[in-house]
Parts: sequence; structure tokens; C-alpha cells
Amino acid sequence: MFDFAIVGNGLIGAAAARYLGLAGATIAVIGPGEPTDKTTHQGVFSSHYDSGRVYRQLERDLRWTRLSKRAGEQYQQLEQQTGLSILTQTGCLYADPVGGLPSYRQHAKQMAKQADIPLQLNLPNSGYALQDTTQLMLEPAPSGHINPRNLIRAQNQAAAGDNVTFFANTVTNIAYTNSGATLTLQNSETIFASKVILTTGAFTNFNNLLPKPIDLRLKSETIILAKVSAADAARLQSLPALLYGIRNTELDDVYVVPPVKFPDGNYYLKLGANTKYDRWFDDLQSITRWFNHGESERSLLAMKAVITSILPHVNFESFHTDRCIVCYTPSRSPYIDALIPDRLYIATGGNGGGAKISDSFGWLVANLAAFNQWPDELAHQPFQIAYKHRFSS
Ligand SMILES: Cc1cc2nc3c(=O)[nH]c(=O)nc-3n(C[C@H](O)[C@H](O)[C@H](O)COP(=O)(O)OP(=O)(O)OC[C@H]3O[C@@H](n4cnc5c(N)ncnc54)[C@H](O)[C@@H]3O)c2cc1C
Repeated sequence: MFDFAIVGNGLIGAAAARYLGLAGATIAVIGPGEPTDKTTHQGVFSSHYDSGRVYRQLERDLRWTRLSKRAGEQYQQLEQQTGLSILTQTGCLYADPVGGLPSYRQHAKQMAKQADIPLQLNLPNSGYALQDTTQLMLEPAPSGHINPRNLIRAQNQAAAGDNVTFFANTVTNIAYTNSGATLTLQNSETIFASKVILTTGAFTNFNNLLPKPIDLRLKSETIILAKVSAADAARLQSLPALLYGIRNTELDDVYVVPPVKFPDGNYYLKLGANTKYDRWFDDLQSITRWFNHGESERSLLAMKAVITSILPHVNFESFHTDRCIVCYTPSRSPYIDALIPDRLYIATGGNGGGAKISDSFGWLVANLAAFNQWPDELAHQPFQIAYKHRFSS
């Protein structure tokens, strides 16, 4: 019998495992590896199959900003501890061509001062070709971008000890009793644990993990990967990550991660955005279909046009799109809560920005599940679970 079973070895689960491992608990961490072929895979997917995610510290309010700052400090410590490269500190640039930045700039300035985060408001050169009228703001190092694959590796390495056991598998059922929980894996193996923590992202409502479905809203997310040569990647290595406030008929909420090396050995710049083709999912079949063969190529031309306009002197060798899913909660805060006191806990719902703060989310759920502790300075209410109305009792 394990003290804890953490279901989902993604960004939040891997962080929770490290904190609970450090606290000396016995832990089963259960989660499959990356699918070998995403076009035929029929099991669960994750949103961390990627090598670059924007990392910034300024968030919607001071408490969130402190959680993100705290996470960044942990990434730097994990780099030292494991030797893995996690955080590229080239800064995060906010670029606004349509005039929404001034009010945000005021708010950001205040938060930056209170949280002791450096901020540059006057930039001679952003590194991107933007119109002269575009308003800019830069969060310098340690902001920039993180490598989610390496982050999970580092969290797992740092958690590894006699008390932590990893199962590269998928949980297909959980039965909760008065004394614990029995988890059934895809290979029919069973695991017993006193407490369960679900960090299963978009797949939380499937595979019989929960007593009743939670209100998690799943949206398709399309990205484009633009291949560059190793020489161009080296030339662009100090480019900041970009949050680009353009809005056109096809795209909004555009973000760019400068070129990084992917597992195939090539360097890709990544752009992601909300697109006019985005759709919402309710059932497992349509989610699998989207990951396998979704029509992400419909946004290719619009995304390519943005990349070539902001980096006109780069010779992009090819462009291709990829597909993912983002989990939203009604409060736009992740769920970090106890569903069955002393038995079932949850940390999920990154709302499109959970990678950068994942370490703090793992820390919060680990403390809640192990010690029933929640930081005094952080209201718990926005993190509390909401169920799907039509299923509520
Ligand atoms: C395209 C895209 C771009 C993004 N860009 C950014 C960004 O720039 N910056 C940022 O901060 N955030 C970004 N995000 C959001 C961020 O990646 C997510 O918020 C974050 O990954 C959430 O972490 P998680 O642990 O909840 O989920 P995940 O990282 O998805 O992990 C969930 C894990 O649970 C496992 N799992 C699911 N069901 C089961 C089961 N039944 N049994 C066992 N294991 C299971 C999965 O295999 C997976 O490993 C982006 C998301 C997407 C999709």
C-alpha cells in the first residue's frame, strides 16, 4: 500500500511527486510515456509533448505572480541539481500593435514593483520586425521559455528514491473505499494507495477516475513549427519569447517561442494562437480524432504569415502544424482541491498557462494532500472544484 498514488506524470504530477518524495512519503507515480505515433495512438495524450513553453513571471494578480516567480526559482535549482537545461532566460516581450498595452502596462508596473520583478518599458530593439507604432514591454531574465520535456525529466530525477515508484502505464479505473483506493492499470495490474492525487489534464473526466465528472472545458489548440538551420537557431538564441497582441480574422492571442532543439534533432520556432477553427470537446472519441487527424493545417497559412512578417530575414526551411488541447476551468484558476477528504485530491486545469507555474501547483496540491495545508496569503476559493451541473447530485 502506497501513501499516495499520483495519476498523471505530466508537469503538475511530476512536481507533486517531487514534493511528496522529499517529505518521505511512499508514492506510486502512474503515467504513460509519449506516444510513438500520435496519428494512430488510442490512449491518453498530454499537453507537454513539446520543447518550448513561454515562461513569464507577471501574472494577472500579485498572488499568481508570486507563484510564477517561485516556480522559476525552482526551475533554476532543478537545473543545478540535475544538470538538465530547463529555463532559457532570454526574456518575455509583450508587443501590442492595437493599443491595449497602456492600461496593462500600468498594472504590470505596479505588480512588478511589489513582486520585485524587473521590467523594461523602453526598448531600442526587440529582435522582431514590428511596426514602429507597436507598444512594447519586456520582462527580462529570468523570464523566457522553458523546456517541458526536460522539466518533467528533472522533476522525476529529483523525486527518484526508494520511496518513489514509477509505473509507465494508464489508470483505467479507481475504486475508493473507507481505507484507501484501488487503482486498475491498463495491463490489469492493481495498485493500492491511501490517497490519490489526479493530475490528469484533459483526460481527468475519462477512464473512471472520478466519482462524478468535474467542470473542465476542453478546447483544441493549434501550433505551427517553423524549421530553421542550426546556424540560424544559434543566431536567434537571444530572442525573447513573444506575446503578440494582434487580432485578425483568423488568429488572436499569438505567442512565439524562439527556436529550440526538438527530439528529432532539428530546431523549430513555435507559434501558437487561438484560431477561428478552434472547437470544444466533450467526449473521448472526438478528442482522440482531433489528436490523431484534426484539421490543424487550416491555420497554417495565417500562422506562417505572422512568422515571416516578424522575422523576415530568417530562412525557414519548412512549416508544419501540430495539435493539442487546453483545459479551462470556470474560474480560470486550476482546480487544486480535495474531492474526498483524506482520499482524493486533484490538481488540473492549467487554462493555457499552466506550464510556467506547474511547480507551484504541484507544491500546493502536495501540501494540501499530505498536511492539509494551504498558504494563508492565497485564497483557496478560486481553486475549488466545480462539478458539471447536469451531473451534480
Ligand atoms: C499547445 C500548447 C501550448 C502551451 N503553451 C504554454 C506556454 O507557453 N506557457 C505555459 O505556461 N503553459 C502553456 N500551455 C499549458 C500547459 O502546457 C499546461 O497548462 C500544462 O501542461 C498542464 O499540466 P498538467 O500536468 O495539468 O497536464 P499535462 O502536462 O497534460 O499532464 C497530464 C498527464 O496525465 C497523464 N494522464 C492522463 N490520463 C491518465 C490516466 N488515466 N492514467 C495515467 N496518466 C494519465 C497524461 O499522460 C499526461 O502526462 C500550453 C498548452 C498547449 C496545449
